[in-house]
Amino acid sequence: MRNAALLDPRDLRRMEIQSRSGVDGAPCILWTGALDGGGYAMTKRNGRSSKVHRLMYESIRGEIPSGLVLDHLCRVRHCVNPAHLEAVSNAENVRRGSNTKLTMADAMAIRDEFAQPNSRTKTAIAAAYGVSRTAVRLLLAGETWVAE
Ligand SMILES: [Zn+2]
Repeated sequence: MRNAALLDPRDLRRMEIQSRSGVDGAPCILWTGALDGGGYAMTKRNGRSSKVHRLMYESIRGEIPSGLVLDHLCRVRHCVNPAHLEAVSNAENVRRGSNTKLTMADAMAIRDEFAQPNSRTKTAIAAAYGVSRTAVRLLLAGETWVAE
């Protein structure tokens, strides 16, 4: 690690490897601690909130080039595996994200389906629509509305 001080042992205990999804054979490392309003892993550092995936990227791969943002290649926002992150321009990040957003019709169909007693699991629904399970969870919880 270039800068191990970015992460402390308490943070490392909040990470869980998920073998069922991944990018190029590398599994997601899911954060079991707090998430922010956008569904990203969050931790407190000196009283301030920090995004854990950014800390992980900077610890392992170095500083995030100025002007760039981190894109989750696995589309799982609470994944903190630095191998799943790519520093891209904001325009590129928005362009990529637009391919995976749900339409209003999708969102309504998902909400309707999940209200049924025999609905598929959130994981199965997420896979069917090509979005993360977290996106489905937040949608069902009413926390996000993803407009086009
Ligand atoms: Zn991942």
